Amino acid sequence: MDFLHSGLAAIQRHLAFVAVDPIDWKFYVQAFSWTVTLFESYLLLRQYPLYSKTSPPESLARHIGQEDFEKSQKYGKDKAQFALFSKLFSQCIDSAMLQYGFYAWCWKAAGSILGKFGYGGDYEILQSIVFSFTMYLLSSLPTLPLSVYSTFVLEERHGFNKVTPGLFISDLLKGWLIAFVLGAPFLAAFLYIFQWAGDRFVPWLMGFMISFQFIMVILYPTVIQPLFNKLTPLSDGELRSRVEGLAGKLHFPLKHLYEIDGSKRSSHSNAYFFGLPWSKHIVIFDTLMQQSKPEEVEAVLAHELGHWYYLHPTKMMAISQIHIFSILALFPAFLHAPPLLRSFDFPKAVAARPPTIVAFLLFQMILTPMEAFISIGMNAVSRHFEWEADRFACELQDRLKEESMTDMGDRLGRALITLHVKNLSTVWVDWLYSAYHHSHPTLTERLKALESFQAKRAKKE
Ligand SMILES: [Zn+2]
Repeated sequence: MDFLHSGLAAIQRHLAFVAVDPIDWKFYVQAFSWTVTLFESYLLLRQYPLYSKTSPPESLARHIGQEDFEKSQKYGKDKAQFALFSKLFSQCIDSAMLQYGFYAWCWKAAGSILGKFGYGGDYEILQSIVFSFTMYLLSSLPTLPLSVYSTFVLEERHGFNKVTPGLFISDLLKGWLIAFVLGAPFLAAFLYIFQWAGDRFVPWLMGFMISFQFIMVILYPTVIQPLFNKLTPLSDGELRSRVEGLAGKLHFPLKHLYEIDGSKRSSHSNAYFFGLPWSKHIVIFDTLMQQSKPEEVEAVLAHELGHWYYLHPTKMMAISQIHIFSILALFPAFLHAPPLLRSFDFPKAVAARPPTIVAFLLFQMILTPMEAFISIGMNAVSRHFEWEADRFACELQDRLKEESMTDMGDRLGRALITLHVKNLSTVWVDWLYSAYHHSHPTLTERLKALESFQAKRAKKE
């Protein structure tokens, strides 16, 4: 532990200037966030002309009909216009909130709300919770019309929307309620650790965050998801026996096999697995089953089980722990820094003893540009994992010595094409746009890779 703390202390010494120098942090955050927004807008403008192409790329031409292609181009164009507008709109709102001292105002408002109930400024944790929710609610209001438009106009126009206004409102309220029910105790515990551990908070907070993630792995599918969707055990039949057979041969600890009513909200389709290492659940969207044949859904699951086989979720989790750790390791320098709060319009009295939650919020804003680079790195890792999982599906026949699986690669290819066509996913993709935004390789890239896996296999034989 001492090694850890002396390392952390060294980082803090390097960043000691944060606590004393009057740096114009607000200007930096404005400049950074506008740079990121303008760069993302530039990417959209690179991608946009591709939606005007009149025929699909050669490699996809025999898989996608002209009508489907034109539909996907129109959908892509609409989504891109909307994305550009909402990006710039949100950035203007965020920027105005930052410029006119919205965060300082929220802290004051939280204080006066608590004052009405007879709690003074000593109740920092309580005030932090009220502060966070005031901020969360108020800042989500301006973008609410965007999400209404996206659901009821954009998705509706292209035939994806299944959400009724009633469901939309109940989803929204449920979301807020869950954020409060889970968020308030989380925040309270998070802040309590700072009070209790003082400047030695890093290992304790790491331990806490890891435990919280484990609890969520258990709570999310069992408690939270059923509030929004219905999971029913997959009925007996060809698909069930195929999936159970596959899981059995790979020694995948399948506990439950569910069908989810994804079609309740949208016609976009998918499949995934989750759970603890010794007890896993597989969930298949009803839409996927309607769109693809059982042997193709089986191939999609072979890909998913590839993720499990190569421990991709565990690796992703490990990377995110390192990420969280590096954020926490930098934080102590920003924790007791009055000039930081002053530059965001907090009054002298608040800045003199910075509330932890405020310091953490401002610190995160300062990290925005770094986070943009990290997300590009994470996408690269995720793409590599997708490629590995596709190869796993292709090579199952050798791994399991199963004659019946020789066409797994073709089946996966067919399923991917169906998914792509039914979801009207974009066919032409700008490389830079894709590298920045997409966690999955494009369809063309995946089909090409599937073919080359098959070819390499054939050569070996
Ligand atoms: Zn995948």
